[in-house]
Amino acid sequence: MRDASILVLATGGTIAGQAGSATRRDYRPGQIDIGTFLKEFATLDLPARMEGRQIANIDSANIGPAIWRDLHDHISGAIADPACDSVIITHGTDTAEETAFLLDLTLPSTKPVVLVGAMRPADAVGADGLRNFANAVRAAADPEAPGRGVLLVMGDQVLSARDARKAKTTGSGAFEGFPRGAVALANPASLDWLQPQWRLGEAARWNFPSEFPEVPILYAYAGQTARNVTCLVEAGAKGIVLAGLGDGNAPDEVREALADAARQDVVVVRATRVDEGLVDREPQDDANGFVAARALGPAKARILLQVLIANGVTDPAAVQEAFSKR
Ligand code: ASP
Repeated sequence: MRDASILVLATGGTIAGQAGSATRRDYRPGQIDIGTFLKEFATLDLPARMEGRQIANIDSANIGPAIWRDLHDHISGAIADPACDSVIITHGTDTAEETAFLLDLTLPSTKPVVLVGAMRPADAVGADGLRNFANAVRAAADPEAPGRGVLLVMGDQVLSARDARKAKTTGSGAFEGFPRGAVALANPASLDWLQPQWRLGEAARWNFPSEFPEVPILYAYAGQTARNVTCLVEAGAKGIVLAGLGDGNAPDEVREALADAARQDVVVVRATRVDEGLVDREPQDDANGFVAARALGPAKARILLQVLIANGVTDPAAVQEAFSKR
């Protein structure tokens, strides 16, 4: 069997970061170029051929629609190219879940697309970047990787883009999956899938947005007033994601203001500020015109809502159907 041919799209982040000292706390993300990174990777001697392309070299806090569009274009080209087997994206971990989920929603799942990052800069003691990258290569080159949507590799876990979230601010085990945990366990020598492919041969679910609509996230808290909502509506929000209390709750006046917003055709999604758990539909959602985020946390709920609105899907029942689909 020939070595897998992998396109590596580099965007920066800590995996390309440097501190200038193995023990320094602060560092700069996005310092090492992809050519240098791949030269170092070549010393690991894994059975894969790489082509590196530098898309950006930045802190992922600054990633947004322009880079997302660029990534989508490059990956679409790679999916159409019979000489390319799979794509790896190196990415900062802070917004990796948003980029991964957006690509998951807007690309076919016929070839593996794998995001990978690191929690420690490349020159730190115990740097995790090269190992995570080796694990990502294992996942991207595996014949059973297609049909699982976009994947995210961190530590020795492979997570699906829909489930992955950054759950800790520091440390190499910062990512978790909900409701599913890891879909595979990886190490530089081997890979084990924990479940069969669930999206085999699937076409892209949605068109990539030609424009990203204004969809703010409203963080709920005790003592919050309706003014928090009316400001967002006056500023032109097309949708609002509530990072609600508990299972998607808010103070009465905030809930009423959100129902008013829904009556003005602002799509309102109830998610939660709690780390994990389902936000399910409740009886008042029909009357209020609300959508329940189900397993999606606020950041990913916002991405899905932007994609839906950009695709012309704004009816709460249709939006709910998209949120309920795994
Ligand atoms: N601030 C960095 C970034 O997201 C953090 C990281 O990559 O871990 O680019």
